[in-house]
Amino acid sequence: MSADKPDTRLVELGRRKEWTSGVVNPPLYRASTILFDSIADMEAAEPPTDGRLQYGRNGTPTTWALCEALTGLEPGAAMTRLYPSGAAAVAGALLALLSAGDELLMVDSAYGPTRALCNTLLKRMGIATRYYDPMVGAGIADLIGERTRAIFLESPGTHTFEVQDVPAICAVARDRGIATLIDNTWATPWLFPAIAAGVDMSILACTKYIGGHADVMLGTVTATAEFAPRLDQARRMLGQTAGADDAWLALRGLRTLGIRLQRHEENALRVARWLDEQPQVARVLYPALESCPGHEYWVRDFKGASGLFAIVMKGGDKADRARMIDGLRHFGIGYSWGGFESLAVPADPTRTATTTDWEGPLVRLHIGLEDPDDLIADLAAGLDRYRAGE
Ligand SMILES: *Cc1c(COP(=O)(O)O)cnc(C)c1O
Repeated sequence: MSADKPDTRLVELGRRKEWTSGVVNPPLYRASTILFDSIADMEAAEPPTDGRLQYGRNGTPTTWALCEALTGLEPGAAMTRLYPSGAAAVAGALLALLSAGDELLMVDSAYGPTRALCNTLLKRMGIATRYYDPMVGAGIADLIGERTRAIFLESPGTHTFEVQDVPAICAVARDRGIATLIDNTWATPWLFPAIAAGVDMSILACTKYIGGHADVMLGTVTATAEFAPRLDQARRMLGQTAGADDAWLALRGLRTLGIRLQRHEENALRVARWLDEQPQVARVLYPALESCPGHEYWVRDFKGASGLFAIVMKGGDKADRARMIDGLRHFGIGYSWGGFESLAVPADPTRTATTTDWEGPLVRLHIGLEDPDDLIADLAAGLDRYRAGE
């Protein structure tokens, strides 16, 4: 690990002259077939590794550069692998670890499609899932059974933003020989280097902040040296890879991740603090505010906050919420987040293990790079509409 400061590393990581002949941003290598001079050369390219062209599915200078840069942002990491979406990365990581008869402990605040994977495909393969309270901390020890093989974390949680005590959970897991995975999409390694906190595999939907411009689908898994061989084997067996264009866009986005996240945080803090004082808002679920469960772990472990949070409305119903969101001028209505633009969507958390006793409906906001004064004015009009139904 180099001693250079993070901003310098973000600019320089993955830029190897021997891969790109000095071109600053690695060009697009669209490749399937790679030609060899002889059969001996062809055989010498086995097994495929980053930095040695072998076959398109196993990488090119464009994808190596992105993988090396992301690995470099995670102290303690040894390898990053690409997937065509964040959802595919979640599946790729879990399939690398689990076999029939195993049990997975899954955080109850997990991303919906992650839950769906556990409840359908993994179940059909004989892999059982038990959901645990995101705030369990070291108490996870009591939930570990004879067949538990992996613990999946997502911090903060989807829709409800609980920040987990990642080091405590990982310390227990390590002690018991159980693998840990985290969906680190909200923070990215820029704000929370998960492997250094004790996680074995860190998953990103690069679709969100790494791409950062709402124009790419891409996922990654970064692993420690211990878990890298299993991750890479599963990736190869599942035939997972990502297109050169998508890797190139993600790499372009990555270079400005630091300044973008800084502005997302500034804007989100202003909007969140303002919302916290409005009579129609019962609670703001933003890790940077004290009202968010696990705020103390965010203070302890994170270098900052990104731009995504939820608000719990005071009273009202889904029709009020629809009237509020439908009329917003600056907030788009759509899936995903992490681009430069603001978004507002209804949030309806699913839970199994823990109860959710919300006062009113939830709204999830992504605060983009617009002027926060405009966003606040837009939301103020929206909150007026929320009341208009009464
Ligand atoms: C969006 C998202 C994913 C899935 O990423 P895609 O690229 O959309 O498949 C996974 N986890 C979290 C937390 C997400 O927000």
